[in-house]
Amino acid sequence: MVDTAKYRAILEARLAELQERLQEIDETLDSHQSRDWEELATEREGDEVLERMGSSGQAEIAKIKAALVRADDGEFGFCVSCGDEISEERLDVVPYTPFCHACADKRS
Ligand SMILES: [Zn+2]
Repeated sequence: MVDTAKYRAILEARLAELQERLQEIDETLDSHQSRDWEELATEREGDEVLERMGSSGQAEIAKIKAALVRADDGEFGFCVSCGDEISEERLDVVPYTPFCHACADKRS
């Protein structure tokens, strides 16, 4: 049986961390809006990196939130594709995964 409470705590901590980081990225990007053109040109590259980090962070947040909904529904730890229990080894590495190892392999 999957220890949902354990993974819920992990997911909630990770979610808080990501949201904080995205907040910082937003603030950094916002602070660049007020600068003049020359500075903007040199900062643009850095901003693109930040934006990429922001969008991958947002994708992870979406997955974590979906996993927390499954935890609420008592479905956490079961593969959404085949219904098998997801191994703890796998959940320890990717706690928000909705797929068991076999199904994740099939999809990649
Ligand atoms: Zn599966």
